[in-house]
Amino acid sequence: MDEITRLARPDIAALQPYSSARTEGEQRMQVFLDANENPFAPYPADAASEGLNRYPEPQPGHLLDRFAAHYSVAREQLLLTRGADEAIDLLVRAFCRAEHDAILVNTPAFAMYAMAAEIQGAAVVAVPLVRTDAGRFDLDVDAILAAAGSRPGVKLVFVCTPNNPTSGLARREDVLGLCDRLLGSALVVADETYVDFSGQPSLARELGAHPNLVVLRTLSKEYSLAGERCGVTIAHPTTVGLLGRILAPYPLTQTAIRAVAAAMSPEGVARARANIDLLLRERAGVEVALATSPGATRIHPSDANFLLVETPDPRLLVRTMEAAGIKVRDRSTVAGIEGCVRISIGTPEQNQRMLEAFEKYASSL
Ligand SMILES: *Cc1c(COP(=O)(O)O)cnc(C)c1O
Repeated sequence: MDEITRLARPDIAALQPYSSARTEGEQRMQVFLDANENPFAPYPADAASEGLNRYPEPQPGHLLDRFAAHYSVAREQLLLTRGADEAIDLLVRAFCRAEHDAILVNTPAFAMYAMAAEIQGAAVVAVPLVRTDAGRFDLDVDAILAAAGSRPGVKLVFVCTPNNPTSGLARREDVLGLCDRLLGSALVVADETYVDFSGQPSLARELGAHPNLVVLRTLSKEYSLAGERCGVTIAHPTTVGLLGRILAPYPLTQTAIRAVAAAMSPEGVARARANIDLLLRERAGVEVALATSPGATRIHPSDANFLLVETPDPRLLVRTMEAAGIKVRDRSTVAGIEGCVRISIGTPEQNQRMLEAFEKYASSL
């Protein structure tokens, strides 16, 4: 048995994947009477509802081709899911036996990793990120290896890069070093939800040399498609095959498939790139404005589309923002980032409005 399958839950490795009407047999037919679908278009039967009466393709070939070209990987290395959140859940369910296995997270971490583990009955090992003098947060590689080694059941090490909520990238050599050292004992899951905001290349190009690396991407933030739910897992074909066994039969809706195809067209990618550039310019402007304000005692260096801001009175800041109709995320009670509030970068007008409320708060301190 190969070193990835050996890490998976034995019952999942032995499972026969569900075979749906849209994957079984010949699909080039004129009349489909095989899936108990309703032959009539749904109300209001306009262009937008065309085709919605049919089950969608489970893994649309044209999207796989597009992502394979975009990320420079093979189709067999790709799995499309209902957002990256579903991929996190699939990984935990495929690799962690309830009451036996564990995941490892680097805290403060995105909450979905621990949530998926708890639902599955897997343990969560937390290793704090180490804060550098420059306000960055680095992986504690030795502590991760020690924690993973002392618990034979750690099957997944989640590394979010850039990290939500601390906003900075992990050091590439740290992530790849973890892959090397954990080969045969755990998968290293690099959540790259925000990597296009960092200007750094994806770790996906390292997959050839690191079979236990799993890269998570999503259309939600970089392509403005949070409402359509599409995530892309890039991994060794064996890992993709294992996750495919437990994937819901039709993870992407017809509307999501259309929206993703448009977003990933050359024009769509160019638009996303332009929006990312605009957000980065806006982030720089917001940083400059906050840096001179007594309301911000520290702005953590960001490689993402949000800022983690340390402030003297986070509750008052959140209340002042709310009074101005603006929602920001209070992270002030999260261990390791006490006193911090997370602020997403919005449109120029939204940022202006946010900065005005921030100044109001700062002057009331
Ligand atoms: C937003 C976010 C996700 C969720 O992505 P979806 O594709 O919308 O499910 C995953 N990971 C991190 C770190 C996020 O911030």
